[in-house]
Amino acid sequence: MNNSELWQSVLAQMQFHISKANFATWFKNTEIISKKEEKIIISVPNAFSKEWLSNKYNKLILKILHDTDESIKDLDFIIEPQLKGLLIKSNNIENEKTEDAQLKFDEFKINKETNLNPRYTFDNFVVGSFNELAHAAALAVADNPGLTYNPLFIYGGTGLGKTHLMQAVGNKISDRLKKEKVKYISSEKFVSAIVSAIRTNSMESFKASLAPIDVLILDDIQFIAGKNKSQEEFFHVFNSLYEKNKQIILSSDRPPNAIPELEERLRSRFEGGMIADVSLPDYETRLVILKTKTKEKGVDLPEEILEYIATNVKKNIRELEGALNKLLVSSKLNQTIDLETTKKLLKGFIFSPFDVANYKKIIETVAKFYNLDEKSLFDATRKKEIVRPRQIAMFLLRKELKYSFPAIARKFGGKDHTTAIYAYKKILQENEENNRLTEELNLIKQRIYSG
Ligand code: ADP
Ligand code: MG
Repeated sequence: MNNSELWQSVLAQMQFHISKANFATWFKNTEIISKKEEKIIISVPNAFSKEWLSNKYNKLILKILHDTDESIKDLDFIIEPQLKGLLIKSNNIENEKTEDAQLKFDEFKINKETNLNPRYTFDNFVVGSFNELAHAAALAVADNPGLTYNPLFIYGGTGLGKTHLMQAVGNKISDRLKKEKVKYISSEKFVSAIVSAIRTNSMESFKASLAPIDVLILDDIQFIAGKNKSQEEFFHVFNSLYEKNKQIILSSDRPPNAIPELEERLRSRFEGGMIADVSLPDYETRLVILKTKTKEKGVDLPEEILEYIATNVKKNIRELEGALNKLLVSSKLNQTIDLETTKKLLKGFIFSPFDVANYKKIIETVAKFYNLDEKSLFDATRKKEIVRPRQIAMFLLRKELKYSFPAIARKFGGKDHTTAIYAYKKILQENEENNRLTEELNLIKQRIYSG
């Protein structure tokens, strides 16, 4: 077995142990470059891969190597930057043109039958603890549509990869099983289709058009809440697909039990399958995402710049991409991108939490989340639908802004400050015990901090 065959065999076995996305992220552009006595040297494209492979996968790689060839007892990684990145970095005009053309071309590549964008795949979806459950569930569904988790319900804040993940499932299924009819529809479009079918008395033919679908992907389903006629029709569509074991994939900005004005029977349908969340990536993962994206675009940015972006752009993955694109556009205009220009260019993307989380923002966000008027948060009422959000608002003022209890009491109509203390303690304690509350608080906080 030569080095290349040996490495191919290791890679083949690694795929059984780690997710496809991780595999693609960490093992792309790696190879064995030498085998000396008992030691194998593996080349990797950058310092980051080296760090991950040697910290996380070292043992596993060594075990597989050793199982394949008993004489191997040690391994090491060295960094060999890829030629491709360096070539493109030299500002080759031809390359720029093709890349621009490629970007524009992408827009046209949205499949007319399925509405899927081929750009969204599992291969370019970075996995970390913030989204691994949703990713695993999505993979399972892609491999076994209709039979594993039905429906699959993915929820989380904006720009965190819900659409990407759902479309990756759709793309994988339609690539693999050409016969399967996959359809991606935004809930906004879906609702307006229902409304116009009702208006034109063509509900039957609308339903008939959905009947042949094998995989229905509905994005941002929270949009259907409060639209009663649409919910009713959707309930029937859902049932008829579900009974035929057709796969349904839904996304929303929050879990089913936190969508106000969602019909009970729909809620319980949504909860009948698998519910998985996507949340915010941590610093390390933000850095991996940036590296994945720069690689995808065939550009190279200095490490310190990527680190600067990962440190400062925390709102969501869409913003991370936006920040990166902004730099890339400037670098195409032949501006040198150093740390100073980066800071200037990214001013709009970067803010400290204290700039955003303020009294007004908290009240506004809590009221909106619970579908209340801001004013009614301050009503002197014992109605549960109001008391609870009010307690949450008090809790957040204390926790996020360090308001004193008397200050909170003053804001809420000069109540005795023990009410504020009680609210704070109650939410604090329930947060420990009640997962639903924890989820709601996280979603509210995400919104408060996302500008
Ligand atoms: P959402 O639907 O949750 O609002 P999107 O799926 O539209 O978010 O994601 C926003 C952008 O971030 C997209 O360009 C998407 O490709 C990218 N993105 C999100 N999550 C990931 C991820 N885990 N790995 C790579 N790119 C991601
Ligand atoms: Mg989306």
